[in-house]
Amino acid sequence: MILVTGGAGFIGSHVVDRLIDNGYDVVVVDNLSSGNPNYVNENATFYKLDLNDFDKLMEVFRKHKIEEVWHIAANPDVRVGSENPDEIYRNNVSATYVLLEVMRKNNVKRLVFTSTSTVYGEAKVIPTPEDYPTIPISIYGASKVACEAMIASYCHTFDMKAWIYRFANVIGKRSNHGVIYDFIMKLKKNPNELEILGNGEQNKSYIYISDCVDAMFFGLKADDWVNIFNIGSEDQIKVKRIAEIVCEEMGLNPKFRFTGGDRGWKGDVPVMLLSIEKLKSMGWKPRYNSEQAVRMAVKDLLEDLL
Ligand code: NAD
Repeated sequence: MILVTGGAGFIGSHVVDRLIDNGYDVVVVDNLSSGNPNYVNENATFYKLDLNDFDKLMEVFRKHKIEEVWHIAANPDVRVGSENPDEIYRNNVSATYVLLEVMRKNNVKRLVFTSTSTVYGEAKVIPTPEDYPTIPISIYGASKVACEAMIASYCHTFDMKAWIYRFANVIGKRSNHGVIYDFIMKLKKNPNELEILGNGEQNKSYIYISDCVDAMFFGLKADDWVNIFNIGSEDQIKVKRIAEIVCEEMGLNPKFRFTGGDRGWKGDVPVMLLSIEKLKSMGWKPRYNSEQAVRMAVKDLLEDLL
């Protein structure tokens, strides 16, 4: 039995669908803070539960004899960290610690964890490889470094194994945050003007959800005690170009209003491209580049949101 945390969220619900397609029995734990119960696969067993609730989580593990955990739940919004660091600490760091303790107490040895490109902060080496130092500039990035560190230490100390995936921007159907979602919501309110955070020159890598899930399963072929992989596409796209694609797909021609500065918010990393050579050398590669991924995701979200 596999437990997926955050299985009612964007990435988690796609992972659950794939696990069930592959014949696994799946239990989902999600507190629905940003998830949607309608996204949970009907063949999964669902618990609305906060990961910080140690006793209830213990019950779920005991009842279902969990053998492996895909820990996808978190507060994924980088911007939240500058307003409310406690929110990030609770849902990312504390939740991961409680989960690790429950795994330890139930002798569960395998963990897949979703980390982020923001662990590298403002990397000077682009594309950034996995062995680049992790010096985050956001509270969110720091929370994921903390989680990675705890996971590695639990793996060594308690003979566990982990697959840690550092994602570029992941986009596609059911995504409920990030730049594409933001632009669509703003244009729904006011089709004549689009506010773009920063100067629009922020240049980052985007990966389509199906490519991301493929990569997560592919990485399981590696079998060290801790396996760390970047997952992204091989190119970048500027925020201004994303705005243009959203407008094209919505059939709108609004005035762009830039808030200015080289980043969208405090803690935003304006230039991001991950080296994916490690996973590529094992035989995986993404099907879509950033521009293709953005266009597909815009179409997906318009279907969901209009
Ligand atoms: P999401 O908000 O759609 O999913 C997160 C899920 O976790 C939600 O369903 C939410 O309700 C649940 N959750 C949050 N705190 C919880 C708690 N304390 N207890 C139980 N459930 C809780 O976000 P997403 O984009 O699908 O992100 C999934 C994971 O991938 C996160 O760990 C995120 O940090 C990571 N990630 C995402 C991206 C991206 O571009 N989407 C990039 C890098 C890393």
